[in-house]
Amino acid sequence: MIFSKSKGYAIIKEEEVEKSVLAFDQTLAGLQSQPVTFHVEGATNPGRYQVMPGTTLAQVMEMAGGIPEGRKLKGIHLCSPLGGIFGEGDLDQVIGIELLEAHSLHAGDMRIDILCDDTCMVDYLYRLSSTLLEENCGRCSFCREGLRQIARIAEDITRKKASADDLALLQVLAEGMQEGSYCLFGRSLGAL
Ligand code: SF4
Repeated sequence: MIFSKSKGYAIIKEEEVEKSVLAFDQTLAGLQSQPVTFHVEGATNPGRYQVMPGTTLAQVMEMAGGIPEGRKLKGIHLCSPLGGIFGEGDLDQVIGIELLEAHSLHAGDMRIDILCDDTCMVDYLYRLSSTLLEENCGRCSFCREGLRQIARIAEDITRKKASADDLALLQVLAEGMQEGSYCLFGRSLGAL
């Protein structure tokens, strides 16, 4: 979306974007004292699961039947499409707002994506950045252009057209988003 101050809609949208991030953070924070329902994807039995306070990433994976047979775990995307991607070494971490906050991350939804070795992380990055490109309000260039460039580089990598400079640029773009984005949406994405 092109930011249009004259129409004024981007101002409203920007507030809506941040409000929605904060609302998901608040839902996740509720897990300190009450169950929260998560949609789990990529496990043997994908679906909706009620997660109790104190549940770890490993336990939620077990609840959903574990990873599909013959596959190896690559990562767990907690609270996608924002949130954070955690590895095998983090399986004993308790699901909660503290886990995201410790990494300057924010919740995007009550969704957990189990990523196995058949997931191409570059393709995953492309799909993620393309989707989020539709959801940002366009207010600030760090987020708007950063996402556009990240999607472009990820697509180029999948087509074997990316250069070494592009890979270095990915890091710069992520840092720029983290430090320069106007709201939590872009800052959290940069940290992810
Ligand atoms: S970081 Fe900027 S462009 Fe992205 S949603 Fe927030 S205000 Fe909009």
